[in-house]
Amino acid sequence: MSEKINIAIIGGGIIGCCLALELAKTQTDIYVFEKNAGITKGENQSSRNSGVLHAGIYYEQDLRPLKAKFCVQGNRLWYAFAKKYQLPCQQTGKLIVAKDETESRQLDHYLQQANVNGVPGVRKIGPDDIRQLEPNVSAYAALLVPTSGIIDPTTFLHQVYASASNRGAQFMPTTEVVDLELSNGAVMIHVRYRDGQQDHICANTVINAAGLRAVEIARMLDPQISIKTALIRGDSYKFYRSRRPQLLLRGMNVYPTPIVIDSPTGRHHTVGVHLTPTFDIVDGQTDIGDTVTVGPKLLPVEHIDDYSTPPPPPEAFLENMGFFPDLAASDLQYHQGGIQARLDGYHDFYIQADRHTSRVIHLLGIDSPGLTAAPAIAKYVAHLLK
Ligand SMILES: Cc1cc2nc3c(=O)[nH]c(=O)nc-3n(C[C@H](O)[C@H](O)[C@H](O)COP(=O)(O)OP(=O)(O)OC[C@H]3O[C@@H](n4cnc5c(N)ncnc54)[C@H](O)[C@@H]3O)c2cc1C
Repeated sequence: MSEKINIAIIGGGIIGCCLALELAKTQTDIYVFEKNAGITKGENQSSRNSGVLHAGIYYEQDLRPLKAKFCVQGNRLWYAFAKKYQLPCQQTGKLIVAKDETESRQLDHYLQQANVNGVPGVRKIGPDDIRQLEPNVSAYAALLVPTSGIIDPTTFLHQVYASASNRGAQFMPTTEVVDLELSNGAVMIHVRYRDGQQDHICANTVINAAGLRAVEIARMLDPQISIKTALIRGDSYKFYRSRRPQLLLRGMNVYPTPIVIDSPTGRHHTVGVHLTPTFDIVDGQTDIGDTVTVGPKLLPVEHIDDYSTPPPPPEAFLENMGFFPDLAASDLQYHQGGIQARLDGYHDFYIQADRHTSRVIHLLGIDSPGLTAAPAIAKYVAHLLK
């Protein structure tokens, strides 16, 4: 490859691919370095997530302003992208349910936040309306969030990659970035290819979109960077909605009232164990499938590449799922696990230039709703580069 390139993107997950597509609209000589053997082959967050297009109601403007903004924008951008390329995507809507008056009051807070964040159409409904929408869901009240939906993440990833390639972005799989250094006003990228050969390439601009390893990459230039990762693993299980009439879910996302946990690293927000429908794609036609996923079961991460199957979930896994009362642990089979690029004590996306050079932009802590936010993040970074 040529010795000096314009833009290097480290990481070919959904963020790296959206960046390549966005930047290729106005720039040339863009390379994406990806250590996996292919863009949709291998382990990363973008291939191991729940595929939910979040609406953007969870994120507070003071604590998580980038998540609030990019989630709402990304949600809209993905629906338009899906329509353009006929991709597997359904605007299923979401119910966020309250089991009692206390949780119902908390929903009022999220309704207000939805309005502040510009999430369209959110309203509060009672038990009768809930049963009309999802007859097997039982709750005191719920927020109906119409812009929430589901996508097939791998198909989206592939389409973004194909569109970026068509616009001239070059993808370099099996190319691992092993070091970065500043050199004569440019950035020297040291890479290792599949055969173990090493090479170095100079880039005018580098964007670090390395997901779980993004902090590691940032440390190559700034060993003193104070931000730390606090990776978290989420496993999901599945059941078949046709198995018993009481398990029939018509096809909405169903979530409990979010839980806020106070811990030594600050307040952590978790969306709680929820139900997510999946697709059946038959002869190119997309419909809600028989499989419904249930998760996440959160686990600490012992090894960044460990995707081994955990033991079956304990009964306690379903204890906060009174809203779907007939589901039993015996209905569940293992679905998949994924690791999120969470940061320690920092709750928003971290998108900033390196302290030593504005030629390098780091995207750290791109955990959920990173899939939803990806096209909006790409537009923002393109704007930063201008
Ligand atoms: C279990 C789970 C459920 C989720 N559910 C949702 C959801 O429903 N909705 C939602 O919006 N978001 C969800 N997310 C979050 C979403 O999946 C991520 O925010 C998003 O995929 C992040 O994409 P990324 O490109 O930043 O990271 P990744 O997909 O992890 O990609 C980073 C890439 O960088 C590569 N890389 C790393 N180091 C190097 C190196 N040194 N050299 C070259 N390449 C390197 C990796 O191989 C990887 O392919 C979920 C995440 C998980 C794990």
